[in-house]
Amino acid sequence: MPNLIDGRAIAEKVYVDLRTEISELKSKGVTPGLAVVLIGDDPASRAYVRSKDKMSRVLGLHSVKLELPESTSQAELLARVEELNRDPAIHGILVQSPPPKHIDEAAIVRALDPAKDVDGFHPMNVAKLAMGDPTGFVPCTPLGVQRLLIESNVEIPGSHVVVLGRSMIVGKPVALLLMQKVKGGDATVTVAHSRSKNLPEITRSADILIAAIGRAYFVKADHVREDAVVIDVGINRVEDKNDKRGYRLVGDVAFDEVAPKAKAITPVPGGVGPMTIAMLMSNTVKAARQSL
Ligand code: NAP
Repeated sequence: MPNLIDGRAIAEKVYVDLRTEISELKSKGVTPGLAVVLIGDDPASRAYVRSKDKMSRVLGLHSVKLELPESTSQAELLARVEELNRDPAIHGILVQSPPPKHIDEAAIVRALDPAKDVDGFHPMNVAKLAMGDPTGFVPCTPLGVQRLLIESNVEIPGSHVVVLGRSMIVGKPVALLLMQKVKGGDATVTVAHSRSKNLPEITRSADILIAAIGRAYFVKADHVREDAVVIDVGINRVEDKNDKRGYRLVGDVAFDEVAPKAKAITPVPGGVGPMTIAMLMSNTVKAARQSL
């Protein structure tokens, strides 16, 4: 399909650049180190942690996978985070979300050393993104979306970007990132959400539509204008008896009806997903570089 934005191929390109940077850091005696903390045994979280750990190893990073039982207390978890904050071999720390219900996730995020917060969720990094301070860490999925657009030669400056969704993980940071007054920014951004009126009218005004709502096939052909660029962040499970897992993953966009109208579009899977992990690796290398 000529208008498909291939996230796997673009992620591979990111890895080529990262490998060069990693060997430069190693020649200076620094091996970028990433610690991924998993609490409990949610299968989806376990799979995410496994793929992050695997990619760290493939790239030759120092990778630590900390698997803690569901019963881990807030105090125990904070103590482990403190240890990782102090560990000079660790440059990036990620606590896999969502943690068990008895854990106060916001307090855990605040306990992270902002210089090691490669997920970009610490208030210091949120502030740095809002202020346009390049030393901060931007959440991986928004960063991946921006990189997909840049690598696909999509014109961002002056374009009207409509972001569907206002979460702290995707919607808000991607809006902040694309409106920044720097290269890869300068867009005119509209953020829509579940209380927005006349949604199809708003989304049809987008040159670039970013869907991040978590509703399978929500964005239909009449939400999209001819020749728009469509980035589908959604990952939703729908029942599929033909798949051995009993389900398959689909996006927030009804791909089959939207793709023929779009100038370019990301598939699910194989679009934004691979870029999220690539940007985690990139943020970890950045953290190691900034530690010098
Ligand atoms: P979230 O925290 O649940 O936020 C969803 C947002 O969508 C909210 O702002 C909500 O509005 C809005 N929304 C929900 N239903 C809507 C509707 N019918 N019309 C308009 N807006 C609606 O989700 P999230 O964490 O941002 O994730 C969104 C999707 O991206 C999920 O499918 C998730 O799995 C996926 N995701 C993918 C990656 C990746 O690597 N590809 C990474 C992260 C997330 P209100 O604020 O008004 O409630």
